[in-house]
Amino acid sequence: MSEELSVKPISFNSARFLVSASRLSECPPDTGAEVAFAGRSNAGKSSAINTITVNGKLARTSKTPGRTRLINFFSLNRPDCRLVDLPGYGYARVSRDIKDDWQQHLDNYLSQRNSLRGLVLVMDIRHPMTDFDQMMVEWCEHNNLPLMILATKADKLKFGAAKTTLLRVAAQLRDYACVHHLVMFSATTKVGIEESREALVAWLEGATGEIEST
Ligand code: GDP
Repeated sequence: MSEELSVKPISFNSARFLVSASRLSECPPDTGAEVAFAGRSNAGKSSAINTITVNGKLARTSKTPGRTRLINFFSLNRPDCRLVDLPGYGYARVSRDIKDDWQQHLDNYLSQRNSLRGLVLVMDIRHPMTDFDQMMVEWCEHNNLPLMILATKADKLKFGAAKTTLLRVAAQLRDYACVHHLVMFSATTKVGIEESREALVAWLEGATGEIEST
């Protein structure tokens, strides 16, 4: 068996809090691969991270006082693969006119981080494509960063209504090459978990050139 074939598959329930950073210089070394999660406050980002990692407490770390404005990194069982929880607060409002250090550092992270392989944008399926979401989509398109959209809280709508919303969003985003995945998601019913995990693995493994051991 070749060395590559013996590499362990990525397991999301291995995710552990690694470090918080308020600026690019405090981030872990920019090697390997990472995928960042973004979303408006209350969209369901923490719940999505906790569900994907089967760790009810993981993203709560990001919500503890003093950490809400920080970029929070989580390690995985594969060396040099990370998940990243971006601050959800106020990004859209301040991004047009960069007002403070925090905003500048988040912009720096998104534009300068070499190991960033993709962005997961979490939106509430009942309020899809807010100004914030549109701005993040434009940003990914402009910077050629692959994007996965999780339309979460799908359990709050009947299946038909959720599907209709998803089709409407898909039509709206038809011309955006950055949108690789649009996933109906729910932290409650777990719909969309496998699909999002598969996309994350593909992004993380594509970057390291490693293949699954199955
Ligand atoms: P964040 O601010 O984006 O991290 O949002 P949270 O993950 O803290 O979620 C905000 C609120 O929405 C909380 O009350 C969650 O329990 C709720 N929520 C998150 N995801 C879901 C979901 O998939 N289904 C339902 N029914 N509620 C959810």
